[in-house]
Amino acid sequence: MNVLITGASRGIGKSIALEFAKNKCNIIGCAKSDFDGLSDTKQRVNALGVDCYIDLCDITKEDDIRQFILYATNKIGCIDILVNNAGISYIGLLQDMSLSEWNEVISSNLTSAFLMSKYLIPQMLKNQAGHIINISSVWGNVGASMETAYSASKGGLNSFTKALAKELAPSNILVNAVSPGFIDTEMNKSFDKEDLNAIFEEIPLGRSGKTEEVAKLVYKIATSDYITGQIITIDGGWT
Ligand code: NAP
Repeated sequence: MNVLITGASRGIGKSIALEFAKNKCNIIGCAKSDFDGLSDTKQRVNALGVDCYIDLCDITKEDDIRQFILYATNKIGCIDILVNNAGISYIGLLQDMSLSEWNEVISSNLTSAFLMSKYLIPQMLKNQAGHIINISSVWGNVGASMETAYSASKGGLNSFTKALAKELAPSNILVNAVSPGFIDTEMNKSFDKEDLNAIFEEIPLGRSGKTEEVAKLVYKIATSDYITGQIITIDGGWT
């Protein structure tokens, strides 16, 4: 199986790459600028005995995506599983946000999933098989204060997932989303110890989630033949 993962240079995307590699899948991964992080992923994936190809690709740019998919299919062949993982957060009051900041969040977190899917679905249709797994967020389900654009992008990604699942089910292509709560990654590096303790008090399991825990869930979904159109939350009981 060949798995394409966006944002594979660190955090959740890197753990997803390693989880699939442990299960003997070949990996193709991209990031926008973090080539060192991608190279580390490649080294660790190769050490597990499977192929890994990496490249820089800004998923907000259609031309980058087209080139990356061409590179991917030349190197590895058809993509069986697409994981739309890369994304950015934005914390701040809505009225202080500029239009370009809004557009950056929506194109990174939502339009990117459209473009990646658009260019990979034809291969999956040929195979009459495939999985698209979108990494959403609990804020896409319930909304977060100071994260309106982020919540809107992930809420949009949830609806995108449900609609596309219905569109592609007759072709045996399964589309799902994973909706993590608070996961220990660089995305949350701005929180200090006091913030973290306050958050952990609200989480019934009393801790942040691990990237490996999200990755295991993504792998399970990708190995199921009868789950589609679902938004699966992994948040320690938080929401
Ligand atoms: P992270 O540590 O900040 O990593 C983000 C990854 O996405 C990096 O590899 C980054 O590479 C890449 N990326 C960002 N913008 C990109 C672009 N325009 N083009 C290509 N790659 C891009 O984030 P994370 O915490 O692992 O989050 C991964 C996903 O999980 C995101 O969609 C996020 O919204 C979601 N999520 C995270 C949490 C959490 O608590 N961490 C909770 C819920 C959902 P570069 O540095 O090179 O840009």
